[in-house]
Amino acid sequence: MQELIRQEQIINDIVTQISNHKIQNASKVKFKVGRLTNITEKVLLDLFIKAVGPNNLQPEMAIEIEWMPARLKCNQCQNLVESGYVCSRCSSEDLKVISGEEFVLENVYY
Ligand SMILES: [Zn+2]
Repeated sequence: MQELIRQEQIINDIVTQISNHKIQNASKVKFKVGRLTNITEKVLLDLFIKAVGPNNLQPEMAIEIEWMPARLKCNQCQNLVESGYVCSRCSSEDLKVISGEEFVLENVYY
């Protein structure tokens, strides 16, 4: 099973991505988050506020999250696995993650 992405790493990622945008003037930010990150909307908001700094947030700023489904591929039989961590065809646990680990600041709207 995949090792869970650690929170500190996620905070660093957000800070890096935020510093590439003038986020303080944004009306809306959109994140793309994979289901395998195990992040909830509340955790993401907390991390985001921590990364931006509470004093830099516009009260009217909207945050949108697009959840990316977990998709894995079996290394033994190349079957696509849409749920769980076991291949539905050959029962192998040797799976490769194709998507679901994304954590991206997808867009900033002004
Ligand atoms: Zn398989």
